[in-house]
Amino acid sequence: MDNLVFLKNTDPQIAQAVRAEQRRQATTLELIASENHVSAPVLEALGTVLTDKYAEGYPGKRWYRGCENVDTAEQIAIERAIQLFGAEHANVQPHSGSNANLAVYIAALKPGQKIMGMDLAHGGHLSHGKMSNISGIVYKSVNYGVRKDTETLDMDEVRKIALRERPDILVCGASAYPRQIDFDAFGQIARQVGCPLLSDIAHIAGLVVAGLHPDPVPHSDFVTTTNHKTLRGPRGGIIFCKKQWADKIDAAVFPGIQGGPLMHVIAAKAVALAEAMHPGFKHYAQAILDNAAALAQELMARGWRLVTDGTDNHLMLMDLRPRRPNLTGHEAAIRLTRANLVVNKNAIPFDPRGPLQPSGIRLGTPAVTSRGLRCEHMEQIAAWIDQVLTCPDGEQEKTTATVAGAVGELCSQYPVPNSSY
Ligand SMILES: *Cc1c(COP(=O)(O)O)cnc(C)c1O
Repeated sequence: MDNLVFLKNTDPQIAQAVRAEQRRQATTLELIASENHVSAPVLEALGTVLTDKYAEGYPGKRWYRGCENVDTAEQIAIERAIQLFGAEHANVQPHSGSNANLAVYIAALKPGQKIMGMDLAHGGHLSHGKMSNISGIVYKSVNYGVRKDTETLDMDEVRKIALRERPDILVCGASAYPRQIDFDAFGQIARQVGCPLLSDIAHIAGLVVAGLHPDPVPHSDFVTTTNHKTLRGPRGGIIFCKKQWADKIDAAVFPGIQGGPLMHVIAAKAVALAEAMHPGFKHYAQAILDNAAALAQELMARGWRLVTDGTDNHLMLMDLRPRRPNLTGHEAAIRLTRANLVVNKNAIPFDPRGPLQPSGIRLGTPAVTSRGLRCEHMEQIAAWIDQVLTCPDGEQEKTTATVAGAVGELCSQYPVPNSSY
C-alpha cells in the first residue's frame, strides 16, 4: 500500500529515506532489545492533525482555546494508563523516558541533592546520574552495581551503600540487566533511608503489565516508563506516582521541563495502552520471554557465555571474550548487522575494554516476537549468530552473504506488523 502519496511528490528525499527505512525493517531481524514494531493503528494515530494543536497545561486546564478534542485524547490516555498499571496518578506528556526521569528529579529534589542509581557500566541508564547527563550535572550521584561473582544485584550490598550514602532519591531499573528486579527490596531500602523510590521500567513495562515481571507500583513513589520498548507504543514516556506527588509531578513536566505536549503522540500512547490491555498482549509478552529463554539456551548450547548464564526477561548480554577473545562488541555488531541481524554493542559488567569497544553485545526479543517469530526460529537465529561470529576471516564475506539471504527469506515469511499500512 502506498502510504506516502503526498510526500513522494513534494519531498522525494525524505520520502526515499522513509521508504528505505521501511525496506530495512522489512528485510532485517531487529534484535535490539529496546526496539519494537508498533501496530498500524499506533502509526495512524501518530500521523494525524493532532500534531497541530498547542495544549500547554492539562485536560480542562489549558492555556490555549480549542483544546476540547485533544483533551479527550489525553484524558483517555491518562485513564488507560492508570487502569493498566494500577497507579494512583499518571502524566502521559513526557517526550521521552529521560524526560520522565528528569521531571521526577525536578519534583522530588533540589539541585545538588543526591541520586543513587545503578551504574551505567553495569546495565543502568544515563538518566540515573551519569556525569555526562543532566541527572549527573545538576545533582550529585552515587552508584550501585552488580556483584562480580554472580553478575546480579546484591540487595544487601545496595542497602549498605544506601545507608552509607543517604541518597535523596533511590533509583532502580536498567537498560541491560537480564534478571528480574526486586522492587519490594528496593522499596524497603528507600523507606529505611527515608527517601523516595523511583522505579524506571522503560524496558520491562510490557512484561510488568502482562503480569510476567514483579510489579513496582505498590513499592514505589514514582514509576517511569518509555512507551516504545516492550510496551510497543510510540516513542515517549509516562510517569506514575502516588497521589501526594501528583501536583508536583504535573508541574515538573509542564512548565518545569516541557512546553506544549505532543498530542498526536499522546493519542498514539492511548492506542498502544488499549492494545496492551487486550488479552492477546499477555500472550505476546509470554512469547517474548519464551523466545528470550530459547535464544539464550541455544546460544549457550553453542558455547557462548551469557552474563548471569541466561535471562529471565526479554534481553541477554553476550560476553564474546571466552569464545572469541579478539572480537569486540563493536566489530561483532557490525558483522551481524551485515548479515541482517541488527544488534547493539554493549559493555558487560566489569568490562576491561571501554564502552566504545566493549566485550559484549545485547540481544532482545520484543521486535522479532512482534513479527510472529517463535522458539523454533530462535534456534535458527542462534545458529546464524554463531556462524557469523565464528567463521574464519577469509570466509567472512561469503558466510555473511549466505546468512543475510537466509534471514531475508525468514523476514519475507514474517512481515513486520505495520507493513500493510
Ligand atoms: C530507554 C531507557 C530510558 C530512556 O528512554 P529515552 O526515551 O531514550 O529517553 C530510560 N531509562 C531506562 C532504564 C531505559 O532503558
